[in-house]
Amino acid sequence: MKPFQLTAAIFCLTLILIATGCTDQKETPIETASEQTTPTTTQDTVTISGQNLTVHFLDVGQGDSMLLEIDGKSMLVDAGESDQGKVVTAYLQDQGISTLDYVVATHPHSDHIGGMNEILNNFQVEHFVDSGYPHTSKTYENMLKTIDQKNIPFQVAQAGQKIEFDPAVDIEVLNPAKTYSEDLNENSVVLKVTYGTTSFLLMGDAGLETEEHIMKAGYNVDSDILKVGHHASRSGSGASFISAVSPEVSVIEVGAGNDYEHPHAEILERLQKASKVYRTDLDGTITVTTDGSTYTITTEKTGTISSRNGAYTSTDSTSEESETPGSAKSTVYVSDLNLQDEWVRISNTGSSPVSLNGWKIEDEGSKHIYTFQSYTLNAGTTVIIFTGKGTNSATELYWQLNDPIWNNNGDTAYLYDNSGKLISKLES
Ligand SMILES: [Zn+2]
Repeated sequence: MKPFQLTAAIFCLTLILIATGCTDQKETPIETASEQTTPTTTQDTVTISGQNLTVHFLDVGQGDSMLLEIDGKSMLVDAGESDQGKVVTAYLQDQGISTLDYVVATHPHSDHIGGMNEILNNFQVEHFVDSGYPHTSKTYENMLKTIDQKNIPFQVAQAGQKIEFDPAVDIEVLNPAKTYSEDLNENSVVLKVTYGTTSFLLMGDAGLETEEHIMKAGYNVDSDILKVGHHASRSGSGASFISAVSPEVSVIEVGAGNDYEHPHAEILERLQKASKVYRTDLDGTITVTTDGSTYTITTEKTGTISSRNGAYTSTDSTSEESETPGSAKSTVYVSDLNLQDEWVRISNTGSSPVSLNGWKIEDEGSKHIYTFQSYTLNAGTTVIIFTGKGTNSATELYWQLNDPIWNNNGDTAYLYDNSGKLISKLES
């Protein structure tokens, strides 16, 4: 062990002792933590409980926050930057949550734990899971202080452990490993969540080093839904790892116009080739609901736009054909509607350009219809259609109308393809 790591480990242990020792809480291994929740005596095998597991990927701008819910239990993974604490709190309250059975801080960077104090202060937290890697930032120290003050049971995650969140949901910790990396991101808590045949891989900000480590350790990383590591930075999502995960759906938590230029273009392209990509900057909050065999994806800005038929299995193919055919797999959709400023935005998150010739945009009641003329929306781009007059360009089109059409009290934009099939709609 290098001196730095030794120092780090001692500091880390000190923090754990501070956080748990003063609270008279026994430091319980994660495996036995479920003793504190009500066990379901009728169910002693890990089977589908007849409940839905819902995983919310919250739009917290540049940062991460995920909520897992099943059978009245909830688990929060990360809480975004400090200014997002309120947003996450409101979202949880909207779901009727007052107690969080588990809160996980993947690593101590502010875009993941900034909002944590607000969460700890607003909700009853039954278990706190940390990467255990020490960080000297005020944000991290304040978080630990609050955990201590509130006597919240504090646990350090380590690869190989399980989090006993719900008897029907298997949550395996794949990272951090026994020996910490010197890179905070690479010590991220990585979780593989499996419910029936549907699986999620939550990467935190882990990158190539962790990916290699996890694969060498022999974990089964094959997953249906991947929460892409480190906001789709080129520090992660290596080709061999993405191929091993073979996700059907990739979710990128990322803020519009962020300073890091996340997602990096080559990573986005790699993910788009392998899977259907959702992004919180374009889609808003993304929700995946699964009964253990099929799943449905709903986004804040586009409604329900994708679902998987139970007949599909995720193991055999990474090609786009493995997804639900038809409009459900459309990568083109209405991503924004601005009623006041009179424009509607169409996005293409797919990996190939889509000709919109003959496609139509309509408002509620089809009072106004816009028809695209010889226009192709390139992969990964958006186009804004303004109601008024102007000169068309690659990214801006004009309806050329004299009067506003979108009802400021609420309206819906409908997008139809050239066969008249509804592709997407967005209510604003
Ligand atoms: Zn981050």
